[in-house]
Amino acid sequence: MKILVINCGSSSCKFQLFETSTGDVLAKGNCERIGIDGKLTYKAPGKEDYISTEAMPDHKVAVQLILNALVDKDHGVLSDIGEIKAVGHRVLHGGMYYSKSVIVNDDVKKVIRDCFPLGPLHNPANLTGIEACEAVLPEGTPQIAVFDTAFHMTMPPKAYTYALPYEITEKYSIRRYGFHGTSHRYVSHRVAEFLGKNYEDLKIVTCHLGNGSSFAAVDQGKCVDTTMGLTPLAGICMGTRCGDIDPAIVPFLMKNENLTPDEVDTLMNKKSGVQGLSGVSSDFRDLEKASKEGNERATLALDMFEYQARKIIGSYAAAMQGVDVIVFTAGIGENTDYIRAKACEGLEFMGVKIDPAKNNGNRSESIISSDDSRVTVCIIPTNEELAIAQETEELVK
Ligand code: ADP
Repeated sequence: MKILVINCGSSSCKFQLFETSTGDVLAKGNCERIGIDGKLTYKAPGKEDYISTEAMPDHKVAVQLILNALVDKDHGVLSDIGEIKAVGHRVLHGGMYYSKSVIVNDDVKKVIRDCFPLGPLHNPANLTGIEACEAVLPEGTPQIAVFDTAFHMTMPPKAYTYALPYEITEKYSIRRYGFHGTSHRYVSHRVAEFLGKNYEDLKIVTCHLGNGSSFAAVDQGKCVDTTMGLTPLAGICMGTRCGDIDPAIVPFLMKNENLTPDEVDTLMNKKSGVQGLSGVSSDFRDLEKASKEGNERATLALDMFEYQARKIIGSYAAAMQGVDVIVFTAGIGENTDYIRAKACEGLEFMGVKIDPAKNNGNRSESIISSDDSRVTVCIIPTNEELAIAQETEELVK
């Protein structure tokens, strides 16, 4: 089945067209600078890359240009737009309403809209993308919303509740939601399949380590805890995000640095993390280089990242009263052997033993723990777009 996957930002629209029977990407690309001027970058295997700078005043025009490119006689991959059987949309926030992907209708759109305050940067753009596709694709083409938060909706109240006055948490729907759910779901399912084990029998810690990083505890097929919270700022320190800090630091900074709520938000989201700590970069390749050259703050940033990762893995083993599998995924998790090794260092007491010969330089789907390790440690490359396409297909079927 041919499924179009759309990930809309406020001025961008990334897309991938999948043939789900094979998992092949037939074409992919990005529209950027929507509402400014417009640039479409389009790639299809076996065809010339294509770039268009036709004006994109809004997302509707951008989606139309994507569809035009897909059926173009030179670089297109479809003979008719009707070949697209459904569109899967990445949607950041589904609030507490959806624990699964859903076919978009008016109620779903209302929920996405109601969640604007919880995902102010993403949800409006995601809804715009859905409405653009509805306007431009043949009538009746199903639109599916795949929520980043959905996988985590199985968490018990003790894991998702914040110890604030209960009435306030209820009034504003303040709770832990968690993000990267599509990735955590995909790699946790995939690792069970890869190991030939029953998903419902396993206790899994999934470590999605990228620019944004999050962990999930998946106990017998259900997410029972995750590190991101009301927003994707919580958890481990990240590229530019501070992660968990003493909440009293927020009013302290606002008072002493004379910052507004928006300014302190920007400071914690964009100027903190390993970038803010090191003053070097948010990219772990740059940090590694700087650290090797003797930059102490880069070394501190790496040490903190590894230390916090290890603490989370340990705490999730405690939360699940055991762990069978640890999965590393995303940019850092897939590519950075020393982070994987350090995050597991010293965890032999709980049955975790990395085999350096299997871990070093490894980037592919594989087991990296030693044969006598009680806990199996794996690299599972994530593929959020394919996961969205598969979930979309399941719903449409
Ligand atoms: P996101 O999707 O959240 O933007 P990614 O999952 O692509 O992020 O991860 C980005 C991070 O992954 C970067 O900080 C970079 O340090 C790391 N990374 C990506 N590729 C490599 C690589 N080949 N070697 C080492 N680190 C890498």
